[in-house]
Amino acid sequence: MPTQAGARRLVIASGNAGKLREIGAIMAPLQIEVIPQRALGVSDAEEPHPTFIENALAKARHASAATGLPALADDSGICVAALGGAPGVHSARYAGEPRSDARNNEKLIATMADIVDRRAHYYCVIVLVRSADDPEPIIGEGIWRGEVARTPAGNGGFGYDPWFWLPEQRMTAAQLPVEEKNRISHRALALAAIAGRVRERFTHEHQ
Ligand code: IMP
Repeated sequence: MPTQAGARRLVIASGNAGKLREIGAIMAPLQIEVIPQRALGVSDAEEPHPTFIENALAKARHASAATGLPALADDSGICVAALGGAPGVHSARYAGEPRSDARNNEKLIATMADIVDRRAHYYCVIVLVRSADDPEPIIGEGIWRGEVARTPAGNGGFGYDPWFWLPEQRMTAAQLPVEEKNRISHRALALAAIAGRVRERFTHEHQ
């Protein structure tokens, strides 16, 4: 990372308040200022790719190109074993436009009505690029395993959480205390996976 003034600013290619809070908390001890791309007038990037990593890279490159700053992006979704990994990269818009958590859940539950194998996982990949053409992006992955419930429960979280059953905790992700979700979720694991390399890059690299 450059060491001149402004070197410790990192643009986040997301407008999701929960994601920004989690990422900000991890970056704070590194004295890295986290800035949502919207605050810098950056529009949302297209996410046309068939893999999470390609979409995350597209978002990070787009934010870095628009701002000239290092950029971090994530891409995530729920992958159901019996559906061959669907909704996968299409999780946010599984039931089409406009995106709606309620309609996505309705479609998933209807699709799985006769399916006995309920295994599913949340997947998250996070990438950090120093520039739009950075040949060495920092990449972290996280997987959080559970099952698709038969009945929803809980008011916390977002998206598919009321239907994401955690056999170990014997509750859904929407019933988990938020601090606990932020400790064990796919996004927390992906962030934890990159924390060391981000720290190293921001403290030791000079360009
Ligand atoms: P993204 O913002 O493009 O990564 O969209 C990911 C989509 O996957 C979200 O809109 C949700 O539908 C789903 N998703 C990802 N992470 C979670 C989670 O932690 N809880 C519930 N749904 C999630």
